[in-house]
Amino acid sequence: MSLIDHTPLTDRPAAPSAGNGPAELSRHTTAEGTTVWLRCSCGRLRMVFTPESPLGTPLFAGGRTAGCPDCG
Ligand SMILES: [Zn+2]
Repeated sequence: MSLIDHTPLTDRPAAPSAGNGPAELSRHTTAEGTTVWLRCSCGRLRMVFTPESPLGTPLFAGGRTAGCPDCG
């Protein structure tokens, strides 16, 4: 059992979303939870960590773009 799944999503093009919110670039599942990398509709890269435990604290990384409907 591997702790980190780094399977690249090569079968899915990392095309920017058509204004429908952030596009998911990659998803990594670890023993602690799930890390998802998102490309916002404004082009900004964002990381969201969702813990496996309901007692855990979700983490977000990445700034905000003023005026962006998704992160601003
Ligand atoms: Zn944005």
